[in-house]
Amino acid sequence: MRTPPNRIHLVLRIDGEAVPVSAPRPPLRARLDELLPAQRAVDNAAIDHAVRKAAAAGKQVTCAKGCSACCRAQPVPVTPAEAYALLRLVEALPAARREQVEARFDDRVQRLRGAGLADLLLDRADDLDAERARGLALAYFKLGLVCPFLAEDACSIHPQRPFVCRQYLVSSDPALCADPFANHAEVIPMPLHAATAALAISETAYGRAQHSVPLTLALEYARSHRAELERQFDAEPLFRQWLGAL
Ligand code: SF4
Repeated sequence: MRTPPNRIHLVLRIDGEAVPVSAPRPPLRARLDELLPAQRAVDNAAIDHAVRKAAAAGKQVTCAKGCSACCRAQPVPVTPAEAYALLRLVEALPAARREQVEARFDDRVQRLRGAGLADLLLDRADDLDAERARGLALAYFKLGLVCPFLAEDACSIHPQRPFVCRQYLVSSDPALCADPFANHAEVIPMPLHAATAALAISETAYGRAQHSVPLTLALEYARSHRAELERQFDAEPLFRQWLGAL
């Protein structure tokens, strides 16, 4: 029997331009988090395109290693599959590092519980309107919870960082990112919505409404939904659905 090639080659159409992508092929049967390497390759190509387009319009990305303003207090939303990928990543760390990262997560969870926010964010109401969502985000922001993966002002999981971390790029003064509720940072527009499309395929796969959770609650969420997140599916139809939903 012929072995399927281990890479997928596809072409995205963005703003009328052809954007080629080479992505690792997911296993035939896969958990949703096992689609992430292919999804990240597609997302990266779309982001590169957006950055090139912005540069052509005179807008350079001002994000750089050493600037971690957006990792320091903002509620970074992750999809259920990303939450499970992060749990698996932490569980695979060497013992000392794992203990350190888990302690940081525990600290953030306790502070969210103390503020009465953890359950609201873990089990978000389906009818949460924009105003209440903003109120929750602001209450979260005021806690100043630094991402547990931030190390010496750099992302310690850079290749595996969530969609939202990849896509959030600004062309304005990085100092403005310290308080996005008070300042207006100029964000590079992204042509694809990788996380929203990932939530859509989660709904198809698990047969119930899905929502993102702040990264600081990712381990909590993934541990309590492990059985669901361990389920395997035929990967190709879900990956195609994700591409279609972008
Ligand atoms: S995962 Fe990395 S990029 Fe995203 S908030 Fe955490 S440290 Fe920052």
